Amino acid sequence: MRSFSLLRWALALLTAGPALAQTPAPNAIRAVKCGRLLDVRTGRIVANGVVLVQGETILQAGANLPIPAGAEVIDLGNALVLPGLIDAHTHLLQNYRPELGGDDNNMLLTVATLSTARRALLGAAMGREDLEAGITTVRDLGNSGHNGDVALRDAIAKGEVVGPRIVASTRALAAAGGQFGQLTPAAQALVAQEYVAISGVEEARRAVRQALYDGADCIKVIVNTDPRVVSLAEMKVIVEEAHREGRPVAAHAIGDEATRIAAEAGVNSIEHAYTVPDDVLKMMAAKKIFLVPTDYPAEFYTSAFPAPASATPEQRQQYQQGAQGFAAGNNKRLARAVKAGVRIAAGSDEYYQVPGKTRGQSSLQMFRAYAAAGLSPLEIIRAATLNGAELLGLKDKIGALAPGMAADLIAVEGDPLADITALEQVRFVMKGGKVVKNELRPK
Ligand SMILES: [Zn+2]
Repeated sequence: MRSFSLLRWALALLTAGPALAQTPAPNAIRAVKCGRLLDVRTGRIVANGVVLVQGETILQAGANLPIPAGAEVIDLGNALVLPGLIDAHTHLLQNYRPELGGDDNNMLLTVATLSTARRALLGAAMGREDLEAGITTVRDLGNSGHNGDVALRDAIAKGEVVGPRIVASTRALAAAGGQFGQLTPAAQALVAQEYVAISGVEEARRAVRQALYDGADCIKVIVNTDPRVVSLAEMKVIVEEAHREGRPVAAHAIGDEATRIAAEAGVNSIEHAYTVPDDVLKMMAAKKIFLVPTDYPAEFYTSAFPAPASATPEQRQQYQQGAQGFAAGNNKRLARAVKAGVRIAAGSDEYYQVPGKTRGQSSLQMFRAYAAAGLSPLEIIRAATLNGAELLGLKDKIGALAPGMAADLIAVEGDPLADITALEQVRFVMKGGKVVKNELRPK
């Protein structure tokens, strides 16, 4: 089969993609120069920043560092450089369309019409949009078909697809029916693509072991979809099995009962918690359980999910007030959580196509909600860097610009410490030492 081998070799030369061709030589040193460098640990901005990168990692970051002879210099002018952002809660393999209805309609159409392979390709597009907006790492929390998130994670890690680092959960564990509303028996067969139904502690244990076998980096549990709730005994076994292998547990929980079960079981993060009592917040602070507040400003909800064309003016007003009330309630609970000492990791929970915005651009709107709840810009940046890295179990690899860490860095022209929306205009992205985007080339 020699001729076949030759043909393959010739084809490989012709089709080698730019992503693979751009892989930096392992020993090549690059110097990223910037007017301002943000140290997210101290909260200080230093002038004349330099980040020395070798291969995929950071050698050194600081002010006025000498640039080694022969190093390639990437001059970002007066831009401000900070670590790549981390979205601790997203769903790359879902991109629902509001005009098709709510979650149930979209979820059914997705599982009935898109194969996992097709969804992985959708995820590649969503991941690219996240990365170009400055999100260099995501934790993908389910609704990915049968392990489509693992396939995408591995393809990105191998450089076959350009995208963010992915921490994958595989299918979420849930009570019967997952997050679907009532379905016919025939349609219920589709639920298994999205959720592993558990009932009883041994099923919970088996589901975690299956997730580990499937390649999960973390475990996602839907603690409640009213009136179905995963019990405390089941949650404890899930946490025990996951923690034995060092995998964090993310719990979708809303309301008194579910958030308390999640906190008592000792999960690593509680997602959403749109309503959560004070004693649970206290327990979360004591146990160092992160809150991932998947919040947006009211304008986000009304632009992403506009009222139907047939709505009367009164209905429109009600709709507007509903969005404002929801956002205001979320702001209050986030402020209560911060006051109680609960640590925050940023998470968008983005899975709808927002008109006129890429996936990354719409995800970053979450920062506006955090600001409205009273978080300072530095607290928000830490939620999306240091805290996210710790929650994902990657604090030695990402979330800060320090020697030995992955060279994941982004740059903006504005001052995000004065106005957090400056992060919505990321002009330069480097992930793992590779430049993904650079709109700051000297003119
Ligand atoms: Zn979610």
